[in-house]
Amino acid sequence: MTEAIAGPEIERLIQLLAKLPGLGPRSARRAALHLIRKREALLAPLADAMQVAAERIVVCEACGNIDTRQPCSICADLRRDQTTLVVVETVADLWALERAGAMKARYHVLGGTLSPLDGIGPKDLNLDRLAARAADGVKEVILALNATVDGQTTAHYITDLLSHLGITVTRLAHGVPVGGELDYLDEGTLSAAMRQRTGMG
Ligand code: ZN
Repeated sequence: MTEAIAGPEIERLIQLLAKLPGLGPRSARRAALHLIRKREALLAPLADAMQVAAERIVVCEACGNIDTRQPCSICADLRRDQTTLVVVETVADLWALERAGAMKARYHVLGGTLSPLDGIGPKDLNLDRLAARAADGVKEVILALNATVDGQTTAHYITDLLSHLGITVTRLAHGVPVGGELDYLDEGTLSAAMRQRTGMG
């Protein structure tokens, strides 16, 4: 039990910051101090932004993306290629591909991968909706999944799931390193992997 060195309001701020990915208790203290020092310029605007986000963020009913509108900005953008669906595991991967400007298409967020060891089966992922969307005027489904065992298991499952539709199913070229997670790749590697995507076996 560490002793509190500030009032409960500040201790609570530190404890919550420490739950963020990449921040431990020590860096959470530094972040809290920084926020407190920049109270007007940073702490107050951040609190406002978080309040608004907490109230308005919704999960897109079409694709599983998160946004403040329904359907999300990407699904609503009719300039995007409507015949191609890019399947990703998480919203972080969708954002990574968008940052790379890899493809002006629509996405489908699975919400994870099949993982027998962790008890994650097809019913736990956004797969029914994927099959329905793929059957609705889509010509190509690109599986932009992590090059992990679970990612590749999921890729094969989806290929089987969609096989009766007669559409092209491709996956990223392995400029994506084995074991690689998309969110950690640089944008050049991601764009190249998207351009050189290959047919699923
Ligand atoms: Zn959407």
